[in-house]
Order: sequence, then C-alpha cells, then structure tokens
Amino acid sequence: MRPSACGCCVGFCAAFCAAFSPSRPPPAIAPAIDGLFRCEHCGSLITGERIKRRLRGGDVREHLYYRCANNHPGPEHPVVRWRAEELDDAIVEDLGRMRLPDREIADWFSHTLREVFTHEAEQRDRQQTILARRRAELTTTKDRLVRAFVSGAIDEGTLKAHTMELDAQMGEVNRGFEAGGDIDERRGDMAARLFDWTQNAAEDWRGSKIARKRSILEARSLNRRLSATSLCLEKRRPFRELSERPLIQLSRGDCPNFEPSRALAPFAAPFLGPPEPFILAADRLVRASG
Ligand SMILES: [Zn+2]
Repeated sequence: MRPSACGCCVGFCAAFCAAFSPSRPPPAIAPAIDGLFRCEHCGSLITGERIKRRLRGGDVREHLYYRCANNHPGPEHPVVRWRAEELDDAIVEDLGRMRLPDREIADWFSHTLREVFTHEAEQRDRQQTILARRRAELTTTKDRLVRAFVSGAIDEGTLKAHTMELDAQMGEVNRGFEAGGDIDERRGDMAARLFDWTQNAAEDWRGSKIARKRSILEARSLNRRLSATSLCLEKRRPFRELSERPLIQLSRGDCPNFEPSRALAPFAAPFLGPPEPFILAADRLVRASG
C-alpha cells in the first residue's frame, strides 16, 4: 500500500502519488535519516535497508526502503516500510509547505520582518533613555538628601525614610533595565536570513549531501515519526508558523484591518530573545550555503 497523508500532514498525498517512478534512481538518502525517525506505532528507530531484485533480463536492481527496526512487532503493528523515493518526496513536500504563495508575498514578509526588529530596537532604546533619565534623577535626589542631613536641614529619621523610598524606586528602574534586555540587531538579520532560506528549503534538501540533509531535518523538526501511511514532523518554532499558511494568507489578503505584526509576530518571536541553540545551528547551516 502506498502511504497517504495523515491529519497532521495534509498535502502529502499529491507528493506520494507523484513519487513512484521505476525508472528514477533512488535518492541518496539511505543513511540520511537513519536514527532521525521513529516508528509511530512502537517507537523503534526507522532504518534503511537495501533490497536487490533480479529483473527479467538478468540485471539486478537495488531498491532502498525504510522500515521499522522492531524485529518482533506485535500482531497489531502494521507494516511500516517506505520506498526511499516516497520518503524523499514526502520530506520535500513538508519543507515546501513553508514557502509562501508567491515571490511578492515572500519579499513583503522578509522586508517587514526586518522592520519589526528595527521597531523593537527603537522602542527598546526609547525605554532605556527614559529609565536612564529616571536613574540620574534618583541619584541626584539621594545626593541632595545626604547633603541636607549633613548640613542639619533634616534629621536621621527623615534621611532613612526618604532613602528607603528612593532605593525602592531605584530597584524598579534597575528591573526595567533588565527586563528591556539587549536586542541584538543581528537577530533581525538572522530572522530574515532564516526566513529567506525557508523559501528554498525544499530545493536545498534535494540538492544537499547526507550531512546537510540531516542538519536540515534536525533544524526543522523536533520529533520525526513515520507510520505505515504517513510522515509526521513536529516542527519547531518559527518554522511551524510558516507551515500554517492560512494565517498569513488571510491576514494579508482578506482582512481589511491587516496588521503586519500579527502575521509576523509568531515567526519573529523566537528571535526577540537570545536564540535557542537549534536556531543558531540553523543559521550556521544557512550561512554555510551562502
Ligand atoms: Zn514499529
């Protein structure tokens, strides 16, 4: 039975239908996915196997399959066995789901993404300026208070009471500085760079060697499972958001009160704080290809 789409992987059917071609050489992904997928039914690793078949003319043709490595499956365990070409096309289909409908929308997204980070940095700078001014005011007030005490204008009790109040306000200011953090403007470049990559990720996969194929899969998805009939990839943020295209399409085309930040925020969010290791790894992957 040829695999078909499951509920969480809508869109793979077409890829599978177009996948099988007896004349096409098997893609070189045999070791690429070893250890990266688990069986949806029993959790065992998915491993590659090569099957040789003798043709009528006497030639021998080798086929690549991926199968559940569980050699003692229970009676309820279906056969999990995919042709390499089918799995390759399913992965390409999945990566292709990140691509926006056309170049114009993709350019708009990339451009607006950079603007989001510019806006965030400007907002952060304004807030930091306000906090710095307030910190200077509090320091000056505290100095005046001490001088007033030294000169005898106020007593020790008044000094202590006002000092406690000023220290409390200074604490709030310092917490504001910490909460504002430091927005590295290079994160905006990183976000735009990774977004641009997503628009060609499927082609990148097709043209990559094994090590890079593995890196692409690891960057894109947290968990990868294969059942008898479907490929299920648990996608990482921000790639998951791109695969959910309806949000972007509806936001841009049909909503009269379109707010770019609503469409972009889910993709931009992981870059506003310190990037997670997988994002840094994905960025290294993308830069390595540039
Ligand atoms: Zn299994």
